[in-house]
Amino acid sequence: MGNQEIMDLAATCLMPTYARFPVALVRGQGMRVWDADGRQYLDFLAGIAVCNLGHCHPHVVEAIREQAGTLLHVSNLYHIEPQVRLARLLTEVTFADRVFFCNSGAEANEGAIKLARKVQKDRGEPERTEIVSATMSFHGRTLATLTATGQDKVKVGFDPLPPGFTYVPYDDVEALEEAVGPRTAAVLLEPIQGEGGVRVPSEGYLRRARELCDVRGALLILDEVQTGVGRTGTFLACEHDGVKPDICTLAKGLGGGVPIGAVLATEAVARSFGPGTHASTFGGNPLVCAAALATVRTILQEGILEHTQRMGTYLLERLTELARGRPCISAVRGRGLLIGIELAGDRKAKDVVTAMMDRGFLVGSAGEQVVRLAPPLIVEPEEIDALLSALEEVV
Ligand SMILES: *Cc1c(COP(=O)(O)O)cnc(C)c1O
Repeated sequence: MGNQEIMDLAATCLMPTYARFPVALVRGQGMRVWDADGRQYLDFLAGIAVCNLGHCHPHVVEAIREQAGTLLHVSNLYHIEPQVRLARLLTEVTFADRVFFCNSGAEANEGAIKLARKVQKDRGEPERTEIVSATMSFHGRTLATLTATGQDKVKVGFDPLPPGFTYVPYDDVEALEEAVGPRTAAVLLEPIQGEGGVRVPSEGYLRRARELCDVRGALLILDEVQTGVGRTGTFLACEHDGVKPDICTLAKGLGGGVPIGAVLATEAVARSFGPGTHASTFGGNPLVCAAALATVRTILQEGILEHTQRMGTYLLERLTELARGRPCISAVRGRGLLIGIELAGDRKAKDVVTAMMDRGFLVGSAGEQVVRLAPPLIVEPEEIDALLSALEEVV
């Protein structure tokens, strides 16, 4: 089928939840993807920070092939070797002592919220039920996670929403100090707000949040669904700030393209998820864990984190140069290979995305006015140069 045929068919049978671009992508290799009419694109979005090793990385493909011919699924009624190996690796390279696997970012955050409330009950503080999150945040589309999300646009039409959520402006220590009190179960923050416009908080913000949680008896949950798994040049973004959360969620980049989510926690906190408290049928199944294990190992063992730092610095420098003397760009920001280009005036990110697509580049948006770049971490300088030439024409 060609692009048009696929689109026509989609219009007859899919729920119209997505405002999609008029192409169907059918094949990928490294930085490149091809549409159903055979047109090639350089991918600077990576399925929204998912394909961190690029498309069809040989280590990931091989792990999936091997596991698919061995065992696809059993159940968490039994022990699962790839799941144990992946959990062990994640505990070795992060603050965490224990891991729970699920299938998506929203489900991971849902689990984190449940865990935080349960911890407070187990500590004998049942009145601590509230989750404090930030405005402009994004935490998912389930009822609890869309409620935690600090943007009204995801909530319209879905009330009544679950109680127990309050919001503070992001990157505002004083607001946090006012909001965190004897009813707070946890503070839930993204180390960098992704969907909210690639907003990097001030130096020290996360550290202050950590200290405040400690002093006031609340837990700190970091949502690293977008920033985790090497995206910002360290395995977790919170490593830049020297902050250790109590709970951290991962998803997008964890599986190298297969759907997997994870709740990471310290020993003291993880204890509250005893037998029967939480579960997921598909969570941590052999197939996705084999893919994730290959993904995480490759990222850690093949110098990808250092490469991400170098490429991120180069991309940010080139963009900053581009922005200079161009009033249509009001800011360029980000860390590692998660970068936002904020447009000035009434310029819409969507128009830039479309114009870049016409030139053979996939880029994203984060809100109305921010163009988002989240290329595979294997991107090379020549590809960044090609992007910059196209972007220069477009802006
Ligand atoms: C994408 C995202 C989510 C939701 O993940 P899904 O897998 O779509 O449920 C949650 N939090 C953050 C920070 C995200 O970027």
